[in-house]
This record gives sequence, C-alpha cells and structure tokens, in this order.
Amino acid sequence: MYLKRLEIQGFKSFADKINLEFNSGITSVVGPNGSGKSNVADAVRWVLGEQSAKTLRGTKMEDVIFAGTEHRKAMGLAEVSLTIDNSTHTLPIEFDEVTVTRRVYRSGESEYFINKTLCRLKDIHELFLDTGIGKDGYSIIGQGRVDEILSTKSEERRHIFEEASGIMKYKVRKQEAEKK
Ligand code: ATP
Ligand code: MG
Repeated sequence: MYLKRLEIQGFKSFADKINLEFNSGITSVVGPNGSGKSNVADAVRWVLGEQSAKTLRGTKMEDVIFAGTEHRKAMGLAEVSLTIDNSTHTLPIEFDEVTVTRRVYRSGESEYFINKTLCRLKDIHELFLDTGIGKDGYSIIGQGRVDEILSTKSEERRHIFEEASGIMKYKVRKQEAEKK
C-alpha cells in the first residue's frame, strides 16, 4: 500500500488543478520558501479529515480555499483527492485503487467521497483505522511531532502502539456499542 497520486484544485496556493504522481519509493518535495511544499502536506492532512484550521496553519476552514492574488480571482471551492495503491488489500475495501476526496465550499460545508461515492467523514476514519494513515496517524509526522511523542503521557503514547498493532478498530467498536 502506498500513496499513488494527489490531485489538488483551489486548495491554498494551488488555484489550477495539479496532479502529483508518487512511486512506491521515496519522494522529496523541494522548492523555494513559500512555493507551496507545506501546502502539499496540508492537502494530505485535510483530505484525510483534518477539522482543525490551526493544524492547517489557518484560522478558519475557509482559509484553505484559494484566496486570490493580484492577478487572479479567489475561488469558491477547494478539492483534494488522494489515491492509494491498495493492490495488497490492506484497506478493507475490494478495490485495488482507493481515492478519497474532500471538497469544501465557502459556506464551510465539506463533502467526502470514497471512489467518487459520497460518504461520511466517519467512513473515511473507518477506512484508515489501524493502518497508521489518517489525520492523527503516524504516517504523517509533522515538525515537532517526534519530540511530542517522546514527551507525551504514557496513555497518549499507547494510542500510537494500539493503532500500529491493529486493535484500534475493536476499541472504537466497543466504545460505540457502549454508547448505544
Ligand atoms: P517554506 O520553505 O518557507 O516552508 P513552503 O514551500 O512550505 O515554504 P507553503 O507554506 O506551503 O510554502 O506556502 C505558502 C504560500 O501559500 C504563501 O505564499 C501563501 O500566501 C500561500 N497560501 C496559503 N494559503 C493560501 C490561500 N488560501 N490562497 C492563496 N495562497 C495561499
Ligand atoms: Mg514549509
């Protein structure tokens, strides 16, 4: 399982649609200051369901939509699609390629899709549970996160091991059953 493609349109500095293709090895994103490297990482977090504008380096969710420049009008909609190669069937879904999409309008309303079918944010969470992928998964290690992991409380650190060992889904199901 690996990240295969990232399509971004109207998100932060990317007004025009861009299509980033990744291979199964290591990819580095390089460029001058302010060229949008961190915006690419933000797009990955965002499409996986990030709800905190602050984590995305903004103050409100609308800040992720292209705000316009001197020469170009602001946009009304941001959309990011992330495609994962699932030929190993690590994700619990029959498809060999899985694309998750998130769209947001200036009204603040978000829509999520799995392989172009409208779904809930909860479905995205469930799809990636126990895979390390997801907005809080260890597949995204932000600046300062390593220090945070080392200095965090033992119960919080335990979450990381639970996710890696694949028991998180059982915990979530248990919590949901107890709520009913
Ligand atoms: P550094 O090397 O300094 O870390 P970077 O390549 O990571 O730089 P980013 O932080 O990804 O750069 O990009 C910052 C740029 O994105 C800024 O020029 C900022 O104006 C632009 N930007 C952020 N949000 C939006 C938005 N909503 N609309 C238009 N441009 C935006
Ligand atoms: Mg940066």
